[in-house]
Amino acid sequence: MPTLRFGSRGIYVELLQSTLKKLGFYFGEVDGIFGSQTRDAVYRFQREFGLVVDGIVGPRTWEKLMPYINGIVGSIVPTDMTYPYRILIMNLEALQRKYPFLETFYYGESVLGKRLPYIKLGNGSNTVFYSATIHANEWINSVVFMKFIEDFCDAYANNRNLRGYNVREIFENSTIYLAPMLNPDGVDLVTGVISQSIPAYRDAVEISRNYPRIPFPGGWKANIRGVDLNLQFPAEWEEARRVKFAQGFTIPAPRDFVGFGPLTEPEALSAYNFTLENNFRLILTYHTQGEVIFWRYLNYEPEEAERIGQQFANVSGYQLINEVETNSYAGYRDWFISAYRRPGYTVETGLGVNPLPISQFNTIYEDNIEILLLGAM
Ligand SMILES: [Zn+2]
Repeated sequence: MPTLRFGSRGIYVELLQSTLKKLGFYFGEVDGIFGSQTRDAVYRFQREFGLVVDGIVGPRTWEKLMPYINGIVGSIVPTDMTYPYRILIMNLEALQRKYPFLETFYYGESVLGKRLPYIKLGNGSNTVFYSATIHANEWINSVVFMKFIEDFCDAYANNRNLRGYNVREIFENSTIYLAPMLNPDGVDLVTGVISQSIPAYRDAVEISRNYPRIPFPGGWKANIRGVDLNLQFPAEWEEARRVKFAQGFTIPAPRDFVGFGPLTEPEALSAYNFTLENNFRLILTYHTQGEVIFWRYLNYEPEEAERIGQQFANVSGYQLINEVETNSYAGYRDWFISAYRRPGYTVETGLGVNPLPISQFNTIYEDNIEILLLGAM
C-alpha cells in the first residue's frame, strides 16, 4: 500500500477515507483528496491504536487498518467509493478468506492481462449466470454484485434469511455464477487508476479524439481497444455492424464500435466460451440506464420469460419492457436467448448520466437484491 499524507490523492485515499468513515473516525466526503479533515481522522485513528500520531499513513498505520479493510471486523465491500479492478480483487480475496465456502475462479483474461473473475455460490443443479459491467462506465453494478455476494455469504454462514429468502435452500438447490466485472481494463480507464504512461492509455486517448462529443474518460463503455463488448456476440452481428456504422461508429470508439468481427476481443470471447461450458437456465445482464428490465429479443419469447420478468419488476419496482429493444443486436443477452431460447434479462439500474455517482448505490442495491435472489429460484 502506498504511503499517504496531506496532499495525496487517488483511489487509496478513497479506501482510507471509506475505512475511517466505517470506523467512525472520518466524517467528510469520500473524495480521494487527503485534506485536513482526513488528516484529523488519521490523527484520531493513530491515537486510538497506539501509533505515532503523525498523520502519515505508512506501513504501520496500514497494518492497523487492514483488519477493517479485509472485514475481519465488520463488513468488506465498500459502497461509498470508486471501484476499480484492484479493489474488486482485494475484496474478493478478503471474502474468500472470511467465507471459505465461497469459490472464486477465472474464466479468461482482459486485453491488458487482468484475470476475469467469477464467483460460484451454491452447489445445486439449477444454474444461473449474472454478469455486470460489460460497459466500463457502468461499474456501480460491480459493487452491487460484490455487496450481494457478501450479504449472501453472511446470511449463509450465520444461517439467516436474506430479505425473507432462505439462503440455505437457494445454496442447496441452485448454483449462482456471478461475473462482477466483464470489462476491467475499461473500468480502470473510467475510474482514472490506469497508468497514463502505458501505450494502451495513449491509444485510448487517441481513440477518444475521433469522438470529441463523448466525454473522456467518463463516456467510455468499450474495452481498452475501443470495441464495445456488448456488440461482439454472434447474434445478428452483421446487422449490429450496419446500424452502428450508419450512426458513425466505423472505427474503434469509446462506445458502439462493433469490432472487426464477432468475438475478436478476449473479454467477449471468454464470456462466450464460459457460457458454452455451462448450462445456464437463466441469465441476468446488468447495465445502468433507467430502471427498466428487457426480456425479449427479436421474436424470441422463451417459455416463462415474461412471467419471471414480471416477478423481477414486482420486487424491484422497475418497469418490465414488453417491446423489443430497438436496434439491439449482437449483445451477450441477444446471443444467449437466440442460442438457448431460455430466459435472459437486461436489468438497467439507476437514473442519470453514466458513470452514475456511487451515492446511488443504496437505492440501486435495495431495488435489485431481490432480483438477484429470485433469479436463482
Ligand atoms: Zn450498458
